[in-house]
Amino acid sequence: MNLLLSSGGNSSLSEEQIIELHMQINNLFKGLKRVLFISYAQKKQKEYTNIIREKWWPLKDVELIGIEEFENPEEAIINSEGIYVGGGNTFLLTKKLQEKNLINSLRNIVMNGVPYMGVSAGTNIACPTMMTTNDMPVVMPKTFQTLGLINFQINAHYHEGNIWCKEGERFKMHRGETRAKRISEFHQFNDLPVLGLYEGSIIRWKDESGQLLIGDASIFIPNKVPKKIVIGTIIDKNLNVL
Ligand code: ASP
Repeated sequence: MNLLLSSGGNSSLSEEQIIELHMQINNLFKGLKRVLFISYAQKKQKEYTNIIREKWWPLKDVELIGIEEFENPEEAIINSEGIYVGGGNTFLLTKKLQEKNLINSLRNIVMNGVPYMGVSAGTNIACPTMMTTNDMPVVMPKTFQTLGLINFQINAHYHEGNIWCKEGERFKMHRGETRAKRISEFHQFNDLPVLGLYEGSIIRWKDESGQLLIGDASIFIPNKVPKKIVIGTIIDKNLNVL
């Protein structure tokens, strides 16, 4: 399996990090003619594909084609050489994939080696479930189960600590739950380890292990103190540091 999982928020990356990101996208998809862009996380799919193609697609020799351009999306997936699943709302993305019966075909081709890049919601659905998304349930998927390409959960756009809101000249602490608190709530009912992937961070996942290539991440395992990991760290499928 050959995955590149990005937390999203890539506009926050430095110039150097953008160069690294482009290099990783090139490593993942080099030599292919076409990559299929799955745009279901957003309502206006055509517009979304165009924005990604024009602003966020660095490969001149590899064509990026939106799934909305195909009459039969399952055939498009089965025949694809590479997959890129974009971000937006994870509930919407999951619902669309489930109602069009695309979960199994997508999982099968990626399990058989077709390279997969996920950004944000596209990374969330690589997990066993979509239960650690930050998104609002604006639509109702059939189940929370997603592709299960990896064995752990990811919380995309993860950040430490509280949020401080600016009111006039003053900062006031926002009382909503921190991400760590939400993940600890997930762990009150579920045992899957969770990787908090900081804004802009990416992991390259190959078969049984992955490496953090940009940014930081935090590992949350039930009943253990969270552990922050830095660029270059290699992890296994149970989020043990190797
Ligand atoms: N809304 C996020 C995205 O950009 C996903 C998330 O935060 O869970 O796709």
